[in-house]
Amino acid sequence: MSLTELLNQGLLEISAALGRREVSAVELATAYLDRIDQAQPELNAFITVDRKHTLQEAALADEMRVASPDLPWVGIPIAQKDLFCAKGWRTTAGSRMLENFISPYDAHVVEQLNRQGFVTLGRANMDEFAMGSSNENSFFGPVKNPWDLTRVPGGSSGGSAAAVAAGLAPAATGTDTGGSIRQPAAWCGISGIKPTYGRVSRYGMIAYASSLDQAGMFARSAQDLALLMDVISGHDPRDATSVNRQDAPCSHGLHQPIRGLRVGIPKQWFGKGLSDGVKAVVESAIQELLALGCEGVEIDLPMSEQAIPAYYVIAPAEASSNLSRFDGVRFGHRAAQYKDLGELYEHSRGEGFGPEVKRRILMGSYVLSHGYYDAYYLQAQRVRRLIANDFERAFERCDVIAGPVAPTTAFPLGSFGADPVQMYLADLYTIPVNLAGLPALSVPAGFDHGLPVGLQLIGPWWEETRLLQMAHAFQTATDWHTKRPASYSGVTQ
Ligand code: GLN
Repeated sequence: MSLTELLNQGLLEISAALGRREVSAVELATAYLDRIDQAQPELNAFITVDRKHTLQEAALADEMRVASPDLPWVGIPIAQKDLFCAKGWRTTAGSRMLENFISPYDAHVVEQLNRQGFVTLGRANMDEFAMGSSNENSFFGPVKNPWDLTRVPGGSSGGSAAAVAAGLAPAATGTDTGGSIRQPAAWCGISGIKPTYGRVSRYGMIAYASSLDQAGMFARSAQDLALLMDVISGHDPRDATSVNRQDAPCSHGLHQPIRGLRVGIPKQWFGKGLSDGVKAVVESAIQELLALGCEGVEIDLPMSEQAIPAYYVIAPAEASSNLSRFDGVRFGHRAAQYKDLGELYEHSRGEGFGPEVKRRILMGSYVLSHGYYDAYYLQAQRVRRLIANDFERAFERCDVIAGPVAPTTAFPLGSFGADPVQMYLADLYTIPVNLAGLPALSVPAGFDHGLPVGLQLIGPWWEETRLLQMAHAFQTATDWHTKRPASYSGVTQ
């Protein structure tokens, strides 16, 4: 296999080539870095690329492969969302506030990947502090969708998704607070998983809304997602919400048959709001699952339409508290001009944060303030419980829920500049899952006018393996996940 072909393969093929010494980690990293350099002016998928640092990591990986030949992932390159602290790497969270922050330590996810010998290709672009659905809120400029450069890749993990879709990395990390892994995965035509809340430690992941944030992965197949889940999952005492469980590795259950599994189809998710093109693709993907022996059952999620209003109280409330640490004293950008301490805070935060982040801090401070706390914040928490109850009831009747990820395909850049609320509304199928803390993934399911559409699969708490098993069976029967955007197929390079 040529090096160009290898760059577009899955983790097992790349690992096998490294194991047979057909390619070294340094050669592999160099080849991906060359692709990144070529694509960067067009896609802007990365905030930081540091060739020297990456090649140092790759050289260490080549040594590690000699010392530990049994470790399968040594030398495999990945892209890191710029929200995960990584020692010695600039870690910006997509914000001017952290434009010059070099992390002194590794996030849990980074540590786990490094321990297995993965090599960091660069720091993927993202919406500022993970707030957004289009990657247009990045201080470092928007990312373009490799399928159509006039469109957004989705957000907030748009750089990670675009990088994998364009063949600039075989996999990438992401975070999902309200859909930021599943939606960009769907819009870029790749696979992405958001694990159960508590499955993957949030230690070292710059916080947006702590009760909703969860780390996960992007890759080219469900099989690769399962392999990566086994690397990043696990108990970590440094995150108080990390759960100590002894689950079997996700990759072990991957090949189990899906015949007889009950697929729940939420009746509220296929009506008003869902575009005809996306609906047709998602319905035919569900038909494919039924053809594979699953049983379809209609389910009811009556509270899901309350998810967006509840989320836009809870997430900004938590964000306003989390982001208070960026004061120009302990952390973050410090203004050059100020008269006193009050002005130091005001100017530093005024200059450091972008408009969407400021909007959320204002909303969050408001709903937490005296007199409004009960009316907004407590009420939203009650709604959150009712949404989780809906899912619990639904899972008495089905094993997996299937539906759309987003109501449309990727929209043109600049579509919602003047109306952020319209963009908020597009998260209606992803946000309920975060409010309930459930695991969910997105897999490529087809195209609408040449743009990728994702199928969302949602499982009961801790049932990632069941989701991956179904996604893998779907990918064994279909080839949507193998499609690449024409100009990034690698064939011409
Ligand atoms: N689009 C949602 C928001 O702006 C979700 C973002 C995310 O999952 N990080 O908050």
